[in-house]
Amino acid sequence: MGKTIDVVSLYPKDMNIYGDSGNVLTIRRRLELYGYEPRIHQYNQGDDWPDHVDLILGGGGQDTGQKKIIDDFFGRAELLRSLAADGTPMLMICGLYQLFGEYFETVDGTRLDGIGIIKAHTVGRDVRMIGNLVEHSEQFGDVIGYENHSGQTFLGEGVQPLGRVDQDGRGNNGDDHTEGARVHNVIGTYMHGSLLPKNPAISDFLIATAVERRYGSFDKIDQTPEQAAELVRLDAVAANARKAAA
Ligand code: GLN
Repeated sequence: MGKTIDVVSLYPKDMNIYGDSGNVLTIRRRLELYGYEPRIHQYNQGDDWPDHVDLILGGGGQDTGQKKIIDDFFGRAELLRSLAADGTPMLMICGLYQLFGEYFETVDGTRLDGIGIIKAHTVGRDVRMIGNLVEHSEQFGDVIGYENHSGQTFLGEGVQPLGRVDQDGRGNNGDDHTEGARVHNVIGTYMHGSLLPKNPAISDFLIATAVERRYGSFDKIDQTPEQAAELVRLDAVAANARKAAA
């Protein structure tokens, strides 16, 4: 039997825009190339929660999508909080990043409470922040992607951003040069694009953390030369994209 890794794709029906499903495909493929057996659980409103979870991926969504999932999301809040506190790796993009914060007040004045894993709040404004985004992260180096959001996010005191935006893009709020947030092994970010195909260091952090937590250490299992070559190719494509963007 191979070593399974259980990945939850959170609300793919309503929270999946600007290519965020590419993050799930990337994690699945890289896990296979490292010799693991990814099991992808699509979790939408009303679904049963899987018995075992190693890694959670959530995407962005329109304000309407965020409103649709919010009740179910609160039903899962305790579980998500305890998984996060326990060190489960998670990647939350844009709309779900906002709802991992304390609240999101939309442009039309609706207040959506978040589940408070990230001490941050978001306020919608009528000018959207749209465009390519480049940031520098101490842990991951240059990170590239694409942002499109109305919400301005403000991190609470002491919350670590994912990176710093010095050039292109707006990031969390267009003012303080921060982008995203990092709490336990949870990464929240405005980076669509998809993020993970272009930023393998983040994919590998999520994978290594998930595998270490489940199996004690992260090793490449019985990797064939073809699998190794495909990884080299994928990383070269990503490196070219980052060189072009940075
Ligand atoms: N609806 C949110 C906003 O506009 C999130 C958008 C997104 O996920 N791209 O801020």
